[in-house]
Amino acid sequence: MRTPVIAGNWKMFKTVEESREYFRTFQPLGQKEGVETVLCVPYPSLPELVEAARETDIGIGAQNMHWEEEGAFTGEVSPTMLKGLHVSHVIVGHSERRTHFAETDESVRLKTRSALDHGLTPIVCVGETLEEREKERTRDVVRNQVVQALKGLSSEEATQTILAYEPVWAIGTGKASTAEDAGEVIGFIRQTVEEQFDSRAAERVRILYGGSVKPANVDSFLDIPDIDGGLVGGASLDPETFGQLVSAAS
Ligand code: PEP
Repeated sequence: MRTPVIAGNWKMFKTVEESREYFRTFQPLGQKEGVETVLCVPYPSLPELVEAARETDIGIGAQNMHWEEEGAFTGEVSPTMLKGLHVSHVIVGHSERRTHFAETDESVRLKTRSALDHGLTPIVCVGETLEEREKERTRDVVRNQVVQALKGLSSEEATQTILAYEPVWAIGTGKASTAEDAGEVIGFIRQTVEEQFDSRAAERVRILYGGSVKPANVDSFLDIPDIDGGLVGGASLDPETFGQLVSAAS
């Protein structure tokens, strides 16, 4: 019932030329029946890739944005600018932004609200640090991040977001969560959405797992009914590898 999503997060990798090369290989691999494929790429590559993906089903997303439409915010990019480029998705609240760029629950909420207001699909990231996990605070942390990010949305708007559970200790470390643990937390996130909104929103919202997903482990995550796909960093950088992940979800 929920269309699976495989979203790549290139982080700060690939020049425009490298992006163009990548897409040439990836295009036939990235379009699979019944899967929503998204590539979230650095700002400079957005125009090129939106153009290259125009006749395809592949969504092109940004990795961050400001919530205001314009203003004196040196170095920032607005939702209007992304929309003007025909970007479809935007990652919000990635843990690297929370850690290195002081992203807060409040800025994540403002960005989520603004993305929806501008017709962009926010991919809202939540997840606990290793320390929080060891203190058995995973559920509290994740519930708080979800509730804060979605605060003030209608139930219908909540279903238009994509949530990504990304335990911080699993990102870029090669140490993925077990599928069982990820499924348990994602089930809990779904329950949180039900409490915050209603059962319809909980049934409809897509919730992804992210953290060292690769071809060798992707099936284990996709086998869990509550997990609707993956947000993929490292393994999205190679078009063939990322294509395998898209195939696994189809
Ligand atoms: C990410 O950047 O969101 C991510 C999950 O990275 P990786 O797949 O490399 O762990």
